[in-house]
Formats: sequence, structure tokens, C-alpha cells
Amino acid sequence: MLMKIGVLALQGDFDAHRRRLQELGAEVVLVKKPEQLDEIDGLVIPGGESGTFLKLLGEAGFEKLKQFVHAKPTFGTCAGAILLATEVVNPKQEGLGAIDIRIRRNAYGRQIDSSIREGMLGKSPLEMVFIRAPKIERVGPAVKIIATEGADPVAVRQGTAMAATFHPELTDDPRIHQAFLDIVGNGK
Ligand code: GLN
Repeated sequence: MLMKIGVLALQGDFDAHRRRLQELGAEVVLVKKPEQLDEIDGLVIPGGESGTFLKLLGEAGFEKLKQFVHAKPTFGTCAGAILLATEVVNPKQEGLGAIDIRIRRNAYGRQIDSSIREGMLGKSPLEMVFIRAPKIERVGPAVKIIATEGADPVAVRQGTAMAATFHPELTDDPRIHQAFLDIVGNGK
């Protein structure tokens, strides 16, 4: 089945996601208008600034996106992960509530604004790029941890919603995007 994946293209680094998803064989649509959500099988919400995303979405866009993320597979990276959470702190901000986590924005402080670190995807190492990254501080009982860095969960999943606090679109390793396409393909 040819999968049609949307990449939210309001702001942020959506183009690297588009390329990676195309390399993996998906048809990609850059989503700029809420009604485009009706045409896609899954959605990627890229990194950027989550507060800016909320402003650009507006109330109607936020509600439409909320319905989508509760019904269809969605993968959020960094700012996208923040948008998918049930609880956002530093500062407090509204979330779409698709994944039962508490997430702290800009959790690594100024000194280590950005870094490349090695984490674990299951039992194998994975290079991870963090940019003004958030930290997942609480994980609800329905949430599955997919990847860790040190003691911290950095990629999680609940139902068909998936989130990563790092940027898998900025390394050569396609496994995280493939994991998302597998969720879209399975429909669960
Ligand atoms: N610091 C951003 C936020 O709080 C996220 C950074 C990113 O997406 N690279 O929304």
C-alpha cells in the first residue's frame, strides 16, 4: 500500500522529514491547511518552536489537529513531541493530549543547547541530535518507551502516536521514521 504521509509545514524543519519519508517510499504531502489532514494516512509534526506552532495553528487549527492525532498515526519530534503531550511545563502550555507524558521545554539549559549523543533504540545504539530539546519527565502507564538516552526516555509511543525529543531526520539512520511508517502500515 502506498502511504500518504503529511508533514506539518507551518514552521520548522519539515523538509528533512519530507526527504527521509520519500526515501523510505512514502508519498509526502506538506500540510499547510487544516483540511489537508483529511487526505493523509499519518502525520509528522517537526521540530521548531512549539509556542509558535500553537499561534500559527489558531484555535480551529488546534482542534482539527487534536481530532486527527487521536484518530490517526502521528509522529512528533522535539517541538512536535511537546505538542503531542498531555502536560507541558517551562512554561506551561496547551498540549494535544495524544501521549500521556509530562514534558519540560528547553530542559538542557543554555550551555548544552544542542548536542549529538548516543542513546539506545531497544538494544542497539542510535545517534541522536538534540536541539534546545525538551525532556520527558513523567511517563503514564499506557506509554511505551522506544528509546532512551542515559536514564531518560527520549522516544515514546502511546497507541498510534509516537514522539521523540531528538531529531531523527538530521542523521542518516532511518530506523525511527521506519518505525513510524510501520505503525501507519499496520494501522495500530
Ligand atoms: N525549544 C523548542 C520548544 O520548546 C523545541 C526545539 C526544537 O524543536 N528543536 O518548542
